[in-house]
Amino acid sequence: MDTKDLWKAVLGELELTLSKANFTTWFRNTFIVSFSVDTVVIGVPNLFTHAWLEKKYHKQIILSLQNHTNNRVKIIAYRVETRPTDPQQIPQEEPIPVEEASQQPSAAPYTYTSPSSYQPQTNTQPGSEFSLNGKYTFSSFVVGKQNELAHAAAQAVSSQPGGVYNPLFIYGGVGLGKTHLLQAVGNELLRKNPSIRILYVTCERFTNDYINAVRSGQARDFKNRYRNVDVFLVDDIQFITGKEGTQEEFFHTFNQLYQNNKQIIISSDRPPKAIPTLESRLISRFECGMMADVGSPDFETRVAILEMKCKEKSCPLAREILHHVASLIQSNVRELEGALNKIIAFHQFKNLHPTLETVKPILGSFSANATKKTVTPRHLIHTVATYFEIKAEELLGKSREKRLAFPRQIVMYLMREEMKASYPSIGTELGGRDHTTAMHAYEKIINCLEEDEKLQHDIELIKQRLYNA
Ligand code: ADP
Ligand code: MG
Repeated sequence: MDTKDLWKAVLGELELTLSKANFTTWFRNTFIVSFSVDTVVIGVPNLFTHAWLEKKYHKQIILSLQNHTNNRVKIIAYRVETRPTDPQQIPQEEPIPVEEASQQPSAAPYTYTSPSSYQPQTNTQPGSEFSLNGKYTFSSFVVGKQNELAHAAAQAVSSQPGGVYNPLFIYGGVGLGKTHLLQAVGNELLRKNPSIRILYVTCERFTNDYINAVRSGQARDFKNRYRNVDVFLVDDIQFITGKEGTQEEFFHTFNQLYQNNKQIIISSDRPPKAIPTLESRLISRFECGMMADVGSPDFETRVAILEMKCKEKSCPLAREILHHVASLIQSNVRELEGALNKIIAFHQFKNLHPTLETVKPILGSFSANATKKTVTPRHLIHTVATYFEIKAEELLGKSREKRLAFPRQIVMYLMREEMKASYPSIGTELGGRDHTTAMHAYEKIINCLEEDEKLQHDIELIKQRLYNA
């Protein structure tokens, strides 16, 4: 076997154990530089990949190499090196069409009754740090297992904007630090280069700006504003769903910036593919860069975050209090912070020294039962229906269309899992179905969950909505 085939075999094996995003990110453009006696040198595209492979995948790589060489390989080394691209191995991006400068986006499919004047907002001019909140920095961000990939990627981007991790797509549930990371990159870049033009917008803001621009005939201003930046940070892109005109404009903005090697970072509550009605050309743009997810922090990370926040607020709390808060509040960081603020405010107001005894009653509303509030079948059905953008009645109806059947099975699974409902009662709740249908659905979802990362993510997000709403 030559080195090329050997590496192909190794990649084939690794691909099976990693998520697609991870695999593509870390193993794209890697190859074997040399293999002599017992040493393999692996070429990697940059130092960041170098560090990450060494830290995270070293063991897996060496085991796999040994597997395919009768244990000949004893040592592996990584070296930053590029080689002429090999079309077979590298996931190809479709070419990005060059947009004519004069080309107008197709008119937005909106109708307006009252034309209002479009005011270019000076504070969103590139170069100003409008909307960047100075408190969101890397140093105030606690890194744990659940966010280390997103954090590392954000850092890499801030040391080399417009480089290999472009676009960077960060996704995960509410209150898990996406906005914090986006803004940390902006703040860091601004610190290093005060004249850099950074534009941070929520997707909602982008949409509104665009709509206003179109209706007041100032599309050109809009373009100038959005297409002449060095770094474009777009928060909560999931809200772009269904807005065709906006998607079109976003696509062109994206392309223009991307072609000029401007850094783009996007956040979303779910991966691109799971955003309903997101155009496929946008999905493929987002996926061609780096994707990183953020998950709920584990206990240790929650304690570390609380410690950090206490320090920021110059309000130290005893360790036992932090542990109590961290064990009570598990869903997300925003709630964790909310609880902390509540504790601090209460004690300042009463001029009391916080102890576990004084803290416990304050957190009543955050008690385990309250955070894991009781779910009703109605609420569950409604949550799943909203998540998949279908109607609750459709879930209860007879149609077996795939777009309905799968969400319906998810409802049944969650009723069983989260409400401990019996199969017959699940059947009844879902429009009078047989208990065997519920049983089958439950088992099917359990099986799918083992392999299907997207499904795992969907379920995670639905649960978040279920308990956080
Ligand atoms: P998202 O955009 O994912 O909904 P945010 O970035 O707004 O979440 O985070 C919510 C709050 O939690 C913010 O105040 C943020 O500073 C804080 N936070 C989230 N993750 C972390 C972290 N890992 N370390 C420190 N603070 C965090
Ligand atoms: Mg956010």
